[in-house]
Amino acid sequence: MNSAGLYIHIPFCISKCSYCDFFSIPGTEIPDSYITRLIQEHEYRKNQANALWSSVYVGGGTPSLLSEKHIARLFAAVLPNCTKDVEITFECNPDDVRPELISALKDSGVTRISLGIQSFSNEKLEFCKRRSSKEINEKALELIQKADFHHFSADLIAGLPPLNDDGNQLMYDISRLISFGVDHISLYALTLEEGTPLFNQVKHNPQLIDESKSDELWIMGRDYLEAHGFSQYEVSNFASEKNQSVHNKKYWNMENYAGIGAGATGTFYNGASALRFTNTLNIEEYIHCAFNEQEEKITINENDCINEYLMMGFRTLNGIKPSVFYERFGIPLSTRIEPSFSLWLKNQKAVITADGNYALNRDGLLLLNTFLMEIMV
Ligand code: SF4
Repeated sequence: MNSAGLYIHIPFCISKCSYCDFFSIPGTEIPDSYITRLIQEHEYRKNQANALWSSVYVGGGTPSLLSEKHIARLFAAVLPNCTKDVEITFECNPDDVRPELISALKDSGVTRISLGIQSFSNEKLEFCKRRSSKEINEKALELIQKADFHHFSADLIAGLPPLNDDGNQLMYDISRLISFGVDHISLYALTLEEGTPLFNQVKHNPQLIDESKSDELWIMGRDYLEAHGFSQYEVSNFASEKNQSVHNKKYWNMENYAGIGAGATGTFYNGASALRFTNTLNIEEYIHCAFNEQEEKITINENDCINEYLMMGFRTLNGIKPSVFYERFGIPLSTRIEPSFSLWLKNQKAVITADGNYALNRDGLLLLNTFLMEIMV
């Protein structure tokens, strides 16, 4: 049987972090009816995908708001459709990490925790209205380290306000994560998203953030991570090869994945084109309407699929294999990326890897959008 990824969206947050533009609604307790609907949708998407899940990712919002009972119910439905070696990632907010949650996740077969640390600076966490603190972060890291999941990932953001970091705070954050046995780190440079509370604050006080400073800090963080055994394998992701995220690589390689939950997206590829399903953001509508009535369904034509493939593939240091591209789209990769790629190669911003893949290198990745604009048709 074929395999695919499964994304499960839990769109509830107790409070809103000021920089965040993800879809989530305020809530402290997740209604039973939402879990019941997720389980029903799982049945529906499983039949649609006709595949076993080789990766499952529970993201949000805040999945760690799920009760132990909800976790058991949800995974009792999902696990029978998983491959034996499935990677199951569960996103946690440090403030929710408690022994009962950890036990429920272990009992349910979760193999990988992704913990939203963002920073160990209390000043930054408070400023961004993050429901956490240095102490809460450390306690959560300790509990997860002791539980010994197969994999352990954490997120950091470079450039959070107030802007008082000359690099020391970020280096401290990274080394603190490493000391707790984290084997995968996602490092983001702060970007200002329109419509967020931070965006409105910055309108009145532009000095609050400095995106070029965030980028400089991010580069310092990247170099520090690489010097400590965490290789960059995608724009924002660092790990040794065996600790890379199986689920995220499905997105970058454009493999099939289903999405369940309000606001979730799934994509099924068919030769050179694809069908994409996106669920309504309205929780009531999601719970009460037939799945095929509340979802938005779009066909992605061949040209858009090729553009997406280039966008996704060039995000990774592994790049794109010309033979795989040809097999998928029936045209040589060179017809879509030349003459730009040769120029980037000449300027030492791109490489042809030992495996014959075409990729941007670390310096080229810093200019990914410029490269994509050159090659998109
Ligand atoms: S907890 Fe995560 S999803 Fe919720 S507001 Fe904060 S950053 Fe956004």
